[in-house]
Amino acid sequence: MKISFDNSFAQLPDGFYTRLHPTSVAAPKLLAFNESLSTDLGIAAATPDDIAAVFSGNEIPQGAAPLAQLYAGHQFGNYSPQLGDGRAILLGEVLAADGTRRDIQLKGSGPTPYSRMGDGRAWLGPVLREYVVSEAMHALGIPTTRALAAVATGENIWREQGALPGAVLTRIAASHLRVGSFQVFAHRAEIENLKTLTQYAIDRHYPQARGPMDLLRAVCARQADLVTRWMSVGFIHGVMNTDNSTISGETIDYGPCAFMDAFHQNRVFSSIDQQGRYAYGNQPGIIVWNMAQLATSLIQQCDDRDAAVQEATEIVHAMPQLLEDGWLTRFAAKIGIASPQAEDTKLIEDLLALMQKDGADFTNTFYALGTDQARDQFTDRAAFDLWAARWEQRIGSVDTARTVMAAANPAIIPRNHRIEEMIAAAVAGDMAPFERLMKALATPFEATDTELMRPPTAEQIVPATLCGT
Ligand code: AMP
Ligand code: MG
Repeated sequence: MKISFDNSFAQLPDGFYTRLHPTSVAAPKLLAFNESLSTDLGIAAATPDDIAAVFSGNEIPQGAAPLAQLYAGHQFGNYSPQLGDGRAILLGEVLAADGTRRDIQLKGSGPTPYSRMGDGRAWLGPVLREYVVSEAMHALGIPTTRALAAVATGENIWREQGALPGAVLTRIAASHLRVGSFQVFAHRAEIENLKTLTQYAIDRHYPQARGPMDLLRAVCARQADLVTRWMSVGFIHGVMNTDNSTISGETIDYGPCAFMDAFHQNRVFSSIDQQGRYAYGNQPGIIVWNMAQLATSLIQQCDDRDAAVQEATEIVHAMPQLLEDGWLTRFAAKIGIASPQAEDTKLIEDLLALMQKDGADFTNTFYALGTDQARDQFTDRAAFDLWAARWEQRIGSVDTARTVMAAANPAIIPRNHRIEEMIAAAVAGDMAPFERLMKALATPFEATDTELMRPPTAEQIVPATLCGT
């Protein structure tokens, strides 16, 4: 297989990574391959066996410079001084058709010096979950890492549930730089490395930025935009640790993530998030906290420390307003308002409060606003009617608002119960539910597969997503 690598991260000093190869697997079998993405990346056509050999890690293509990246991070608020790619290997970078640089990374490719207690592997369930959800995000127009391939390893791995089939995901990203990539050098007082990384991040993602504080401002803007987009589709990331917040502003690390069915501000899916730190409604506050950690790290390289502290404080303190403005823009569009005013916040919040009280389905309620069926989503219809009267007065005519709503309210999201169903089928060797999800989620604003729009029945509800990924 021919891949035109153009590696830049591998040119950075030794302290940034460990060079090593993936651990080969017993019997690689291609489960899914993203043809259109591979074309964008300039990857030449190959047979399924060749694709499986490369994207399982069994064969290293020419020009690759495989390595595991070093980083640290706050996990649930506690600082872990050394994380790093514990089960991932960066094969290298390519220049995509649009001129942007992309990482090609294997996830689940065997142990590395950063594996700590882990086995370096992933099982089929989370691999396919990430494949489906990250591609759904992309189709929704939300910045995200993407999935190029899923390969079964032919080996079993052990998790809480017992023996499970192993798999490797090939992840494509604008880069894998995270807040934690900066934290590791700042906490170790490796200032030269911190400076080198800062310049690398600027060159790669924000070439117009003139120094660390400009970089901080740019990342804050991207992350604020990203989180408001998540909020607008009912997405709960689930593990917003600082090692899972990117510098590029892409969504990364689809672990115990989920799209909400019934709306609730405090909704949590992750089975290990006992305190609800990463609940739906906490996400804007958490991203500000994560950006404060980035600020703290970046400051360490500034000669005029006091001036840097002051500037960084201003930048981070400006974030809540960015998030509020972004939230208003996105949610106003969801109720058909293209140019929101401050008073619209109340109108939106009142609708969300009604939805929360009635346990209305997040996706279907907004979608139904555009098809005049929204009333059916509520049990307290009188309350909805009162809200709808205010709404109609604000928007004038539902018809003109319809176009705005159609672009903001997806019909189809990857519902948790459908993902679980898809995983169970895939484990049994049936990829049809996977294919069906991928097909419908490619055009999420079109109601192409109405069965996939249905919320889970009481028996189908998946209360939590296991963290044993
Ligand atoms: P995550 O919660 O997926 O962001 O992972 C946090 C850290 O744990 C990262 O350093 C991962 O590389 C590492 N990790 C997660 N699962 C494994 C595993 N099965 N084997 C080795 N390292 C892992
Ligand atoms: Mg992670």
